[in-house]
Amino acid sequence: MRSIRTRLKATEGFASRCAIPGCRNPTMRAAGIGLAAFHCRKHIEHKARHGSHWDGTYSAAELKPYLAAATSYLRPRAESDRFIKAALNAISLLLEEAGPTEIATRLRGMSPRRRARIALARLRVAGIKPERFVAIVLAVTALIEEDPDSHRTKEFRTVQIAKALHRLASGTHKRWPFVDAYGRKRQTEMHAFPRSSGQVLRIMGRAVEGLCEWVIEKHLPGVLALKKKRYGQQPRCLVAASPVR
Ligand SMILES: [Zn+2]
Repeated sequence: MRSIRTRLKATEGFASRCAIPGCRNPTMRAAGIGLAAFHCRKHIEHKARHGSHWDGTYSAAELKPYLAAATSYLRPRAESDRFIKAALNAISLLLEEAGPTEIATRLRGMSPRRRARIALARLRVAGIKPERFVAIVLAVTALIEEDPDSHRTKEFRTVQIAKALHRLASGTHKRWPFVDAYGRKRQTEMHAFPRSSGQVLRIMGRAVEGLCEWVIEKHLPGVLALKKKRYGQQPRCLVAASPVR
């Protein structure tokens, strides 16, 4: 009796196949490898990295016209507009309070919250200005707004903002020059990148975008208009399937 009830319970509330159109994989639940009831492992992992089950991360090139428009839009208003000014001050405080940085190889085992702070501190040390943060938030929001393929969820925007920031300064890079056995000058290089995925991106993205809500509210239409004037309304050149980066 009990075993039947347990079995019934186990087959309720989940799909056998992944909900993403065209995906034939079993859901993680159906495959017995996880609790995801409606998506396969591949699409769950994709969501952790990009903030969406299927949409890929925008490339720097796709973001570029939006970033250029946002930057030009912000520059003459940084001192005069109180919403922009407030966001710039808040971000500069966020960066100051982020504390010291840590080399990428030492991040293992740290909490996502701590890693997000370190990621922010890394941007501060790299000299990334608050203006750049606000420009990125506006640019990503504008790009999503104009992208007919994007499904515009809050989470997707958050992760895209964090990834665009993370790209600016994410790795620890070291070079050790040496002279080899034949007297040639050579160098050993080490490049370590903290994994830009999951919770760290979400915490970092939320912290930054939360400080820009008013700027988005007041100025997104202006940024979109400027971008359109300069580059037309052409959204990103759509690659059949966005490559996973
Ligand atoms: Zn799938």
